[in-house]
Amino acid sequence: MPLMTGDQYVESIRKMNWNIYMAGKKVENHVDNPVLRPSLNCLRLSYDMALMPEYEDLLTTTSNLTGHKINRFSTIHQSVDDLIKKNQMQRLMGQMTGSCFQRCVICDGSNALYATTYEVDQKYGTSYFENFKKFMIHVQDEDLIVGGALTDPKGDRTIPPRQQEDPDMYLHVVERRPDGVVVRGAKAHLTGITNAHEVFVMPTMALKPGDEDYAIAFAVPCDTPGITMIVGRQSCDTRKLEGCPIDCGNVNYGGVEALTIFDNVFVPNERIFLNGETEFAGVVVERFAGYHRNSYGGCKSGVGDCVIGAAALVAEYNGVSKVSHINDKLIEMIHLNETLYSCGIASATLGTKTAAGNYYIDNLLANVCKQNVTRFPYEICRLAEDIAGGIMVTAPSEKDLRNEVTGPYIEKYLKGANGVDAETRLRALRLVENLTLGTAAVGFRTESMHGAGSPQAQRIMIRRQADLEGKKAFARHLAGIKEF
Ligand code: SF4
Ligand code: FE
Repeated sequence: MPLMTGDQYVESIRKMNWNIYMAGKKVENHVDNPVLRPSLNCLRLSYDMALMPEYEDLLTTTSNLTGHKINRFSTIHQSVDDLIKKNQMQRLMGQMTGSCFQRCVICDGSNALYATTYEVDQKYGTSYFENFKKFMIHVQDEDLIVGGALTDPKGDRTIPPRQQEDPDMYLHVVERRPDGVVVRGAKAHLTGITNAHEVFVMPTMALKPGDEDYAIAFAVPCDTPGITMIVGRQSCDTRKLEGCPIDCGNVNYGGVEALTIFDNVFVPNERIFLNGETEFAGVVVERFAGYHRNSYGGCKSGVGDCVIGAAALVAEYNGVSKVSHINDKLIEMIHLNETLYSCGIASATLGTKTAAGNYYIDNLLANVCKQNVTRFPYEICRLAEDIAGGIMVTAPSEKDLRNEVTGPYIEKYLKGANGVDAETRLRALRLVENLTLGTAAVGFRTESMHGAGSPQAQRIMIRRQADLEGKKAFARHLAGIKEF
């Protein structure tokens, strides 16, 4: 099947039999729901851009499985160039949406599973690699989106899955049948899951013998019976219901996350990619995390471009764009943002081939990238708020601007320098607010902290991969110290 248009994608999502709850109610038509539609629009754009000649090179590629033309988000990386292009595509998509655009999990999850299922089969003679390749051909040829499910609720963090008082605190197999397994549990923070056709489920961490029922990886359609999604709320989300697009800051695009319940969900054998091989749980998680930590160098720098642009616009509208300390702050924001991108590109550039034949990023540099992402967007936001001024959070609503009594006052007193009208200035201020404190702040600020793993997870990986003994040897050599 040829690549879908954005409209075809939207209709393909509409046709599915969803089980989504939000704000205490079942959502009957989430495709047209004003709170959820902006997140769908990001994915829709990823389809439309793939069909535009100017973006074709970045957003499409050739499948190593079929030779067919596919969306780059669904590719199995065949070279370092593929890894670099993923980051370039993510930066572009971040710039176009000012938001988490939600499609990267398929790319990062599928490459992690491709490399890992191959290795499991080599060791155990299983057929997970074949299962996985068949699944990916289906995804690539139908031009589907696959969401990713990793993070279990975890219960008491100090004890392993098998010892939890409630065994469902980690998703696990509850029944084994000749034709498949039945699983139960929940996965948290599922990015873009209400806009995906299928969902990959993987373990959340390394597991030990005794946790076999928790060492399960598979994919099922998002409307499989037993799956319930509970949408997470975002700061200022109900502004989208007020009919005031200016107050939303970025009314067309946004992200979505949901707590997703798997209540006795059946998984057929051909959709199982890991089933009890506990020593590979940590391998697949580490690979996925590495790919996704590299991805943040692309997407967050793209959204960072929007934050920097919005702050620069506010400065211009206030007539202070030539003031030296304002310029210095913008330079600092650019420096931080390009550092994030550099880390992503560096970890892609030093990528290497796996035994399965796909390419994997440099994991140490990917973790350094994500560790920087837990910090720099906060400083970029701080500087954007500094430049924007307090009016960013005290400005009246669009309804006041449209009111016949208050409107003229707002137009008179909130206009900017050099003939900039109040509405133009308010639009830029609301965008800064949206990106730093509003719905997009989930994707730019807090997701920068916790998405793809919280900061401590990267510090553990950095320590594990940095050759400290090698560094000590360099120091001993220079200092003339003999080894004990
Ligand atoms: Fe993609 Fe970034 Fe969103 Fe992850 S956080 S899905 S890498 S846009
Ligand atoms: Fe994320």
